[in-house]
Amino acid sequence: MISISEIQRVFKGRITLNEPLAQYTTFRIGGVADYFVEPVNGDDAVNIIKYANKQGIPFYVMGNGSNILISDEGIKGIVINLESAFNYLRHEKEIITAGAGVKIAKFVDYCIQKGYAGVEMLAGIPATVGGALVMNAGAYGGEAADHVCEVTVIKNETLKKLGKEECDFGYRNSNLKGTVVLEAKFILPEGNREELLKRRKELIQKRNESQPVEIPNAGCVFKNPKDNKAAILIDQCGLKGTIYGGAMVSAKHANFIVNYDNATANDVIELVKIIRKTVRERTGIDLEMEVKLIGFEEVAI
Ligand SMILES: Cc1cc2nc3c(=O)[nH]c(=O)nc-3n(C[C@H](O)[C@H](O)[C@H](O)COP(=O)(O)OP(=O)(O)OC[C@H]3O[C@@H](n4cnc5c(N)ncnc54)[C@H](O)[C@@H]3O)c2cc1C
Repeated sequence: MISISEIQRVFKGRITLNEPLAQYTTFRIGGVADYFVEPVNGDDAVNIIKYANKQGIPFYVMGNGSNILISDEGIKGIVINLESAFNYLRHEKEIITAGAGVKIAKFVDYCIQKGYAGVEMLAGIPATVGGALVMNAGAYGGEAADHVCEVTVIKNETLKKLGKEECDFGYRNSNLKGTVVLEAKFILPEGNREELLKRRKELIQKRNESQPVEIPNAGCVFKNPKDNKAAILIDQCGLKGTIYGGAMVSAKHANFIVNYDNATANDVIELVKIIRKTVRERTGIDLEMEVKLIGFEEVAI
C-alpha cells in the first residue's frame, strides 16, 4: 500500500485509505476502496490519473453510486469522487453549466428556478450529472443527453471538450465510459416555471408509487430487451418477492432488487443468476444487466 504522503507529492485533494464504500451507494452494499480520492480541480484529477497509470494502479470514477454493485471485497485501486470540487452550477442565458458531481435533483431544480425546461422529467433519478451522462439516464420520455452541447472530460490523461456528437449517446449508453466526466453544458428551451414545478411533482409522485424508493436498491437491474420490458418478463415468471440472503426481488417493481436485510453483493449476484436462468428457461430471452458490477474478479451470471 502506498502512503498518503507519497501520493500527496502529486495530488492536492483529500485521500482516504480503506474507505468503506457502501455508504456511497444507493444499494448500501460493498467493501472498502484501497484509496478514495477527491481531486480539487481538473488538473488535480489529471495528476492522480497519471500517477495511477504510472504505478499500474486501476482507478474507478464514482458518481452517486446509484447504478452499481460493488463487490464485498471492495475495490483494489483508486476510487475518484468528484462531489466536493465539481459541485457547481452556473448559467449564462439559456446555457447551463453543471459540475459532474452535482446531483440531478439539484440540477433540475436550478434549471426550473431559472425558467428553463427539458430536464424536469429526470428529477427523481438519484444520479450525479456525470453519472447520468455516462449512462445516458432517462425517464418519462427524456434523456440526460437530450440538451447537452459540450462535455469536459479527461481522456488519455488529457483534459478535452467533447461536442455532443462525439459522445455517441444511445439507450443507457455513451462512449464516455472510460473517460472522467468533469463538467457539462446544456442548452435549454425556456419554460413556464409553475408548469415545470407541477410536472416535476407529478412525475416524482408517479415514481414513488411504482418504485421501492424506501428500500436501498440500485434502480433497474436489467436493460429492457428489444420490444419488451424486463420488469414484465420477471413478473410473468412469478419472481416478485424471491429472496436470496438479504436480497429480494421487489414486490413493487420486478426489475428492482432491494437490499431488505443487510444483503451482501454475493446475495445480489445469486439472485441475479436465479432471475436470468428462470427468464431464459421460460421465455428464451437473455436479460442483460444495466447495473454495473465493480470490483469483482470474474462473475459468471
Ligand atoms: C431508485 C432509483 C431509480 C432510478 N431511476 C432511473 C431512471 O428512471 N432512469 C435511469 O436511466 N436510471 C435510473 N436509475 C439508475 C441510475 O440512477 C442511473 O444509471 C444514473 O445514471 C447513475 O448515475 P450515478 O451518478 O449514480 O453513477 P454511478 O452509479 O456512480 O456510476 C455509474 C457508471 O458511471 C460511471 N461514472 C459515474 N460518474 C462518472 C463520471 N463523472 N465520469 C466518468 N464515469 C462516471 C461509473 O464509473 C459507472 O460505470 C435509478 C436508480 C435508482 C437507485
